[in-house]
Amino acid sequence: MKKKQGINIPGRIPENPYYWSGSSVGAMLERREYTGCLVNFKTYSNSIWDKERRRNPEEKLRIFPGHHEAIVTDAVFERVQEIRSHRHRQTRTGRSSMFSGLVYCADCGARMVFNSYNNYKAENAFFDCSSHRKSSKLKRCSGHYIRETTLESLVLKHIQMVTAHIFCHEAYFRQMMTEKHLLKSQEEIHAKESQCKRDEKRVAELKRLFIRIYEDNACGHLSDERFQMLSESYETEQKELETEIKWLREEITAQENRSSSVDQFIRIAKDYVGIEILDGYILHEMIEGIYVGAPDKSSGHRTQAIHIKYCGIGFIPLDELMKAESA
Ligand SMILES: [Zn+2]
Repeated sequence: MKKKQGINIPGRIPENPYYWSGSSVGAMLERREYTGCLVNFKTYSNSIWDKERRRNPEEKLRIFPGHHEAIVTDAVFERVQEIRSHRHRQTRTGRSSMFSGLVYCADCGARMVFNSYNNYKAENAFFDCSSHRKSSKLKRCSGHYIRETTLESLVLKHIQMVTAHIFCHEAYFRQMMTEKHLLKSQEEIHAKESQCKRDEKRVAELKRLFIRIYEDNACGHLSDERFQMLSESYETEQKELETEIKWLREEITAQENRSSSVDQFIRIAKDYVGIEILDGYILHEMIEGIYVGAPDKSSGHRTQAIHIKYCGIGFIPLDELMKAESA
């Protein structure tokens, strides 16, 4: 502290100099560099005359892994981003639910929000579709509410069934889900390959353009000043494209070699075989979203179906798996 050494600097001494503000901690949790990678193209400017640096969106960043020693693993980093993207809602009574941020309405896709009231017992706390509260026009979403206790027993049952199935029929489960997963990653690889081809075409075009302005300049059709400006802009574009092509190629190879996320899910699921109690950690480790359907009263009882999107592998066709199992 400069002030302690008797050096006068502007600014007040904070009340508690050892206090970490939420925003500082948040900024640290979001720094990808801690996982050992180099992050480039974080900002851009519109032109050479634009003095302002603007933030690039996530998809334009170029990330080079393994640049320096990691102090946070990739898996932990990804999970933290995932959890931070969910807003945790606390009700006026100060209660919050381990399911907060994970529950969605199966019909309109809106997030379902957690409610508990003072005069209610804790077991009456419930989730309800948020779009139904905002607009009464969306009638189809009314009555979607589900008690937290009901949700808990349905989710627990689902996880128990999935983990038990994996425990007994691991090879079959792996084959089923890998087929489903491969299809998706094939599409992604295809998209990256097309982008790569487009970039290469543009690089070839830029090279031709450069020769043309060079010749125009040599025979006096193009002023030195214009030539300088154009060649600089072509060169910048070419460099950017070449970096992108290199990155795309690496991504394609990595994706082709990546041990499938199905294996990773199976590893996690095996830890929870025979699970009896849920907690927030398990939920966030296994589940990306819980979709709650409309209540069905046709049997005389109010029943509600839930669909669970699991981390890394999406929805698991439990019925199909069970059928194959008994066949
Ligand atoms: Zn809804």
